[in-house]
Amino acid sequence: MKKYVVVWGATFFVVVCVSLYLMMETVSTNMGKSQDLDARLIEGKIARIRSDILKNQHTIQEIKDYVRTMSHGDEAVLEKLQKVLDQKDNIDDLGDVLKGSEVKDSEGDLKDKGIENKVVEFRPVEEVKLSGDTCSLADGPNPRADIQMLKVYEELKFDNPDGGAWKQGWRVTYPEGKWNSDNMLYVFVLPHSHTDPGWVKKFTDYYTQQTKPILDNVLNVLSADSRRRFIYAELSFFSLWWESLNAARKETVKRLMKNGQLEVATGGWVMNDEANAHYAAMVDQLIEGNQYLHGTTGFTPRSGWAIDPFGHSPTMAYLLKRSGVTGMLIQRVHYTIKKHFARNKNLEFMWRQLWDKDGTTDILCHTMPFYSYDVPHTCGPDPKICCQFDFARMSPSPYSCPWRVPPQAITDSNVADRAAMLIDQYKKKASLYRSNALFIPLGDDFRYDKADECDKQFNNYQKIFDYLDKNPQLGVKAQFGTLSEYFNKLHELTGSTPDSKPEDYPVLTGDFFTYADKDDHFWSGYYTTRPFQKQMDRHIETSLRSAEIALTLAAVYQKKHRLTGFPEDQMMQLLVEARRNLGLFQHHDGITGTAKDFVVVDYGERLLKAENNCRTVTAEAVSFISMATKSDYKQNRFFDIDETRPTHVSLIKRNVLQVSSEPSAVLLYNSLTHPRQQVVNLHVSDPNVEVTDAHGKVVTSQTDPYWTEPSIMSQERFKLSFVAEVSALGIARYQITKKRKNVHHSLGKVTYYNSEGPSEKSAFTVERKNSMEFTLASSHLEASFSGSTGLLKTVKMKSSGQVHKSEVSFQTYGARSGKERSGAYLFLPDGPAKSLRVSHPVIRVVSGPVVSEVSVFINHVQHVVRLQNSPGTDGRTVDMYNLVDVRKETNYELAVKISTDIHNIDKEFFTDLNGFQMIKHKTFDKLPTQANVYPMPAMAFIEDDKTRFSVLTAQSLGVASLQTGEIQVMLDRTLNQDDMRGLGQGVRDNTLTPNRFKLMFESRSAPPIKDRTSGFPSLQAHMTYLHLVHNIQILPQKSSVSVPPLISQHSFLSGSLPCDVHLLNLRSLQQSYDGPITRSDDSALLLHRLGLDCGISSHGLPCTDTQGKVRLRDLFSDTLGVKEMRRTSLTLLHDKGPTSLDSDLTLNPMEIYSFKVKW
Ligand SMILES: [Zn+2]
Repeated sequence: MKKYVVVWGATFFVVVCVSLYLMMETVSTNMGKSQDLDARLIEGKIARIRSDILKNQHTIQEIKDYVRTMSHGDEAVLEKLQKVLDQKDNIDDLGDVLKGSEVKDSEGDLKDKGIENKVVEFRPVEEVKLSGDTCSLADGPNPRADIQMLKVYEELKFDNPDGGAWKQGWRVTYPEGKWNSDNMLYVFVLPHSHTDPGWVKKFTDYYTQQTKPILDNVLNVLSADSRRRFIYAELSFFSLWWESLNAARKETVKRLMKNGQLEVATGGWVMNDEANAHYAAMVDQLIEGNQYLHGTTGFTPRSGWAIDPFGHSPTMAYLLKRSGVTGMLIQRVHYTIKKHFARNKNLEFMWRQLWDKDGTTDILCHTMPFYSYDVPHTCGPDPKICCQFDFARMSPSPYSCPWRVPPQAITDSNVADRAAMLIDQYKKKASLYRSNALFIPLGDDFRYDKADECDKQFNNYQKIFDYLDKNPQLGVKAQFGTLSEYFNKLHELTGSTPDSKPEDYPVLTGDFFTYADKDDHFWSGYYTTRPFQKQMDRHIETSLRSAEIALTLAAVYQKKHRLTGFPEDQMMQLLVEARRNLGLFQHHDGITGTAKDFVVVDYGERLLKAENNCRTVTAEAVSFISMATKSDYKQNRFFDIDETRPTHVSLIKRNVLQVSSEPSAVLLYNSLTHPRQQVVNLHVSDPNVEVTDAHGKVVTSQTDPYWTEPSIMSQERFKLSFVAEVSALGIARYQITKKRKNVHHSLGKVTYYNSEGPSEKSAFTVERKNSMEFTLASSHLEASFSGSTGLLKTVKMKSSGQVHKSEVSFQTYGARSGKERSGAYLFLPDGPAKSLRVSHPVIRVVSGPVVSEVSVFINHVQHVVRLQNSPGTDGRTVDMYNLVDVRKETNYELAVKISTDIHNIDKEFFTDLNGFQMIKHKTFDKLPTQANVYPMPAMAFIEDDKTRFSVLTAQSLGVASLQTGEIQVMLDRTLNQDDMRGLGQGVRDNTLTPNRFKLMFESRSAPPIKDRTSGFPSLQAHMTYLHLVHNIQILPQKSSVSVPPLISQHSFLSGSLPCDVHLLNLRSLQQSYDGPITRSDDSALLLHRLGLDCGISSHGLPCTDTQGKVRLRDLFSDTLGVKEMRRTSLTLLHDKGPTSLDSDLTLNPMEIYSFKVKW
């Protein structure tokens, strides 16, 4: 009985609120004209009451539902009802979670009275408490290391003296008689051919003209003599070749791999770039390559081979280690560092991760000592001698020796002399290393493409080896040997194993950026070259992940429920093509932007295909899953992702949803494993709409004009924004209806500075203003802008009241004059950056309760800064977008700089390596500007004791912190000349290029540990980054179709994963590699536990910290029914046995875990 009283009590409260609201509305209209201040107070109250009403409407609906069922006297229902009423008692306290944004001028006068300040209702999300193991990395000391790369940089002078024959080294000597019959030098000569999957020729042209002949030759020459060896790396080419072979030749390949003559090293789809590539894409192309290799030949790579990527990242070392590789080789390391390592016999080391306390990531790494990987620079320090042992340069030949001493064929009469010359070089090279094993690569770009060349190399070397065999007193045992054979010998000689450290070998932490091959020729240009393709790459990467997960879930669901109709194999074929096209682009002349124009076009078209495929797969999988009755699903019928890209150089176009009085359904797909509340936007055909969620609740929304020109609004297209809520790995349904009157909907208010703005009439209020400064605010931030330039000046964090200087400016560089100038690879600026003059540009401000933004139209850039009213991560950042156009310039580089009040001592700053980890750098005055630029695939930050300032990026670009408090991000470069690294052209194919960033100020609860060589983003920054790149995908219903009944929302997870565990992928595996591509019933699950800095608190994150504990059984909802999970190596080639589904599995911070899942 008492409960009935409560029900009526609550209803009475609601009625009172409604009456009060109606009364207040009248009051405010009457008073508004005369008394601004009072009106404002009243408006605030109205907003508050309106919010209460919203919540109470919701409560009433719930109460009504329960009352309806209460006639049966159901105790459980009564209990639920009590709960609803209790919650009602609490929601009154949440009124201020979110206020509408305001445009204020410098006097602080409210200027947006035309726009109602509404309060949007959200569940409050508390700070995520982090402790223990989760924080152990950032709080602990640096891992023990004998060589720390930042320290090496601090100590070296970088003075570049002339070293003689070895120009960048010194006159190498060794003790006479050091090697003899009792102390042999074991030399492993390894023929190799570096085949770029696209560079100055297109991928397929390289294949037909050069790579296929190379691989055909290799098969022949290795079959002819079991002493011969060869190493190969690029599976993209190998796959084409494999498919061209008959059954007998395939068997020969398998035999040569099995008997150790043919080694495939790394086994990636390509030899990936290590600066711009994101670890997700690196892992993906590694899995694709390894799976293909193993699926066709049964071969498992044991060694890593990276002779050409332009600088090396420890992330690659980590991925190789976790793939089961035990030794790796790198080549493009700064010449001064090579020399320094050679002096100290440190060219071979155990490469340890910057965060690895226990040394479990250590991997043996061999660094090549000299200038290049060609024969003149691999046999020893004197290229003039070594060139004489490149028998491919023996006349007649397309190649010759620039040192003007040609090779001589080895004969019985000259073998003694020639061998003596060669082993002198071998011994000099060996004296730079610690063991008596010596590795000698024998090859170059696209070598061994002629049978004659193969014969010359293999036969002449064999004659020298035979001679040395007969003369053990020379102390050299030489043979053809693979990289793995070399590493095995090294372990044998040093008494170690592939899993252990040779006793006196050093441990190294750090990276090998920024690479220079000579003088001050730092290769930091390619961090930014062809930024259009770099941003498109990242967009496809996240689309691919999203499509992979959606396909796996849809296909597993279909199987579990014995359904048919979802075309999983067809989707799988699209996905495999997308993987391979994206994988190809990770090549060190792909994402780097260092290929010829027509090759860039070829990559672009492949990327476009990949993007379209991902869109199709996601749209079909999400449509299928969303059907209330799955048999209603029809392919290509109901939903599509709301974006298209007409050509490979076009900007993404958003489709326009044709709204009508009939509701249109929009599906939102969240591929991340925690629920999200985030502003989403889509384009609609009418400015007046109503957005409702799946329960019919009206959601606060805003439409803004869509601009065809800075001052011209489209009459057919409008931008709709609202805060959406989507569950973890889930789909949510919203409805959009054309509606004239909707109190929950606002039109963005437009203000122009420095311009008259549009002249034609529109639905939107337009104001013209002149002001020194204006302010935009969101729920958590307040940003001030210059009224004359429209550029950001300060950011205030509302929670602490702290105001930070954050001045945005644009910077330009020219190319220095002389013979060697900036090009695709090199950044050789003509001096310090100059500020781009910004004088009274058109400034357009649009503000409203959901989104507010400033657009500035300056020479070369359309610059947008946006604030969002959202309880999610997007409510706590300043978003920055630029549309860059440098096509009218020559030898011109454009950067954006944010100058803050952060006092980063010694100009220390942190950048990410492949989006996987953060490394500390210092800006060194002893080095030129171009040396102080680093890759930024994901983020950079600077910090002092109190505050950290981070720039998160949605695309790979170059970054620097040249002055205290600054972060400068390179945006685009147009260069008129070749920089003499083989490309043979400048970079002139610039196009209109978008980029996206998030700027974050975060308060530190404790000062950072001073001598840390690595950094960790806060949980907030991690989540914000994930939200930046992994968009909630928007799938509006196709026009003029009637959509069958849909589920209201869906999650594939039974809960959500802990905040710091990222679902890197859920990848369907290929059934077989013979015949058409079909989907296997097994899939690969990759989980990555992020490494965090707990010294910065996190807010608004709907997830928890479990100290890395995950129970696999609980991961996916019962509808999917996981049968078995087996732990594997990263690329799934090494099985590590079954994992218990029912006990807690502990994931360590920073580590990636792979599982094979049986459903
Ligand atoms: Zn290459």
